[in-house]
Amino acid sequence: MYDYLIVGAGLAGSVLAERLASKANKKILLIDKRNHIGGNTFDYYNSDGILVHKYGPHIFHTNSKEIFDYLGNFTEWRPYEHHVLASVDGQLVPIPINQNTVNALYGLNLSQLQVQDFFNSKAEKKDQILTSEDVVVNAVGRELYEKFFKHYTVKQWGLDPSELDASVTARVPTRTNKDNRYFTDSYQAMPLHGYTNMFHRLLDHPNIHIMLNTDYKDLVDEIKFQTLIYSGPIDAYFDFCFGKLPYRSINFKSQTIDSENYQPTGTVNYPMSQAYTRITEFKHLTGQKHEKTSIVFEYPTAEGDPYYPIPRKENMEIYNRYKTLAASEPNTFFTGRLGTYKYYNMDQVIAQSLALFKKIMQAEHLHIVH
Ligand code: FAD
Ligand code: UDP
Repeated sequence: MYDYLIVGAGLAGSVLAERLASKANKKILLIDKRNHIGGNTFDYYNSDGILVHKYGPHIFHTNSKEIFDYLGNFTEWRPYEHHVLASVDGQLVPIPINQNTVNALYGLNLSQLQVQDFFNSKAEKKDQILTSEDVVVNAVGRELYEKFFKHYTVKQWGLDPSELDASVTARVPTRTNKDNRYFTDSYQAMPLHGYTNMFHRLLDHPNIHIMLNTDYKDLVDEIKFQTLIYSGPIDAYFDFCFGKLPYRSINFKSQTIDSENYQPTGTVNYPMSQAYTRITEFKHLTGQKHEKTSIVFEYPTAEGDPYYPIPRKENMEIYNRYKTLAASEPNTFFTGRLGTYKYYNMDQVIAQSLALFKKIMQAEHLHIVH
């Protein structure tokens, strides 16, 4: 008899397993249908001995000290600030678009104030910012939108930016200064020994029993538990009764190259050409020294593992029907990127699961054990 059955050993499920086991002395069965823990953050040493991320590049960044400190209980950190270049008009220029980008692209030498004037002169000001096209065109105008965002977004989502919520391209800001970093969060770092190592430490507790290669549907009638926490796709849980929620998937094509370096930054984006969206060279992220280097190309696709919920109104309407059904499901909680159909970064998923932990503690009148 388990207190909790937790479906999904990614961040959402594992954080709850750790909290409930160590702080509420609960007995947990944590399952995943994959053959490893870590969910989409899973990393491993490939046959050449290079640390790679199986499901695409994962860079940890957050503004929350609480979340950074929480993960810090299970890993040492390697400070790392991600830089991305975009291949545009035959040059590699910084993205997010900033002062350096404009000056390199147009052969100019504009000051910060002049860059702001440049954006103002190009921007098509919108009364309402509703779509991912509106966000960019409103900030920098149509030409830069076409060069940096339109085609990348069509590749990534299979949709025109005008068909996607504003929140998608709003993830990438526009800057007038020379800050070439991809993220500006207060805490930016990589787990020193990798994500999988961090997960092993997170889940190393006598109250947590892990079963891999185990699908929830095959197991649920076989075991006894009091409460279910589900971080798989919510539509699958309800047997797609309101139809399938659309997800975007990616084919990751990896390659090891017999040379120490491949590209100047961790990631290079291809917003104008190629079928792939970006190439990442892992050694930039991990700091590993090796005579060879491993890279991954990302080819977005409609079929395959559900990686990205697709933020747009019609999908939220379907999700909201599932959400209402979920609220009336006894002794069951949904969490995570798939369980709540939210385009969340890692820190947001951790925040969501820590909040759910607090809610469960209050609902069950539990006290933290030390
Ligand atoms: P997941 O990691 O997807 O875990 C869910 C788990 O549930 C999976 O392991 C799955 O196998 C399991 N499961 C599903 N159904 C069942 C079932 N029926 N039975 C048993 N198990 C089941 N975030 C960042 O902060 N920084 C980044 O740089 C970053 N880069 C990303 C790059 C890519 C390509 C992708 C796809 C995501 C990226 N993210 C990044 C987001 C990050 O991956 C997620 O926020 C986080 O991993 C989600 O954790 P989760 O536990 O909700 O989901
Ligand atoms: N985007 C783009 N061009 C870029 C980078 C991003 O058009 O060079 C858009 C694209 O729609 C992408 C979104 O902005 O899906 C969010 O980018 P981010 O890098 O945050 O995507 P993720 O790392 O989650 O795949």
